[in-house]
Amino acid sequence: MSQLSNVKNVREILNRHGFSFSKKLGQNFIVNPSVCPRIAELGGAGPDTGVLEIGPGLGVLTWELASRARKVVAIELDERLLPVLEETLSEFDNVTVIQGDVLKIDLGELIRQEFPGMEVVVCANLPYYITSPIVMHLLEARLPVKAITVMVQKEAADRICAAPGSRNAGALSAAVSYYASARVLFSVSRGSFMPAPQVDSAVIRLEIRPQPAVAPVDEALFFKIIRAGFSQRRKTLANSLSSGLGLAKNRVAAALEQAGIHPSARAEELTLEDFCRLTSQIFEGDFDKKV
Ligand code: SAM
Repeated sequence: MSQLSNVKNVREILNRHGFSFSKKLGQNFIVNPSVCPRIAELGGAGPDTGVLEIGPGLGVLTWELASRARKVVAIELDERLLPVLEETLSEFDNVTVIQGDVLKIDLGELIRQEFPGMEVVVCANLPYYITSPIVMHLLEARLPVKAITVMVQKEAADRICAAPGSRNAGALSAAVSYYASARVLFSVSRGSFMPAPQVDSAVIRLEIRPQPAVAPVDEALFFKIIRAGFSQRRKTLANSLSSGLGLAKNRVAAALEQAGIHPSARAEELTLEDFCRLTSQIFEGDFDKKV
């Protein structure tokens, strides 16, 4: 096990490098020794696997990944951490650290170059200020990865993994379940981090589907309808779709009826299949020209 989750060691390394935490970059480093081995194991890091990590920080999770996987590529935005990582990961020859913003990197190209012939998984303790953009960036790029196992704030975990029809269901969980099957693996208390954040966290796993869960007639319209449906949660679907898509309410009501959805239903009650049928009706009803 790495010495990096020992608080005394972490303080010593940080002091020696004159490093101070950046709240802006979501720097809460794991200091609970039981967390990273579990993420690495459950994330699928193994002798034939390539692992893409986002935000290695001091390298505490990277260490656990590198000792199990064939290769690890870690993307870190904060260049002050590069000399630290060089020291903490010096015993490994299967780790590449790339300095950059994960949201600006062509991850498909990076995976093709760095992991030829390997099964690839993503493992990370995500910076919380951009959890949803990173998750959507990973999913929308249709990366050739098997699974994404990441730690996020507890509340974000509940929103990402919400089942259709449940209280937490929203545009994010609908989009996630289109690309992947998502579940919460385990919770992590705020005291497991340095500095400790205000809230607890959870590790989630998104198992990427070989094909999206449904096949909408027009994917862009499908997501536009989902976003519009959830945009005003207190309104009925007929109202929120009419204002969100700029369509007459009676036309929306007709499309809902043709799709077999009650006009007073709310977006969180709909399954992906419902949204898919609704997309067909709106698309075929000539509404697409106005959307
Ligand atoms: N993996 C480490 C751990 O578990 O202790 C650090 C996790 S910390 C929550 C998030 C890390 O992501 C930080 O090291 C931060 O500098 C980095 N980061 C923040 N924004 C980033 C971005 N846009 N692209 C890549 N890394 C980023």
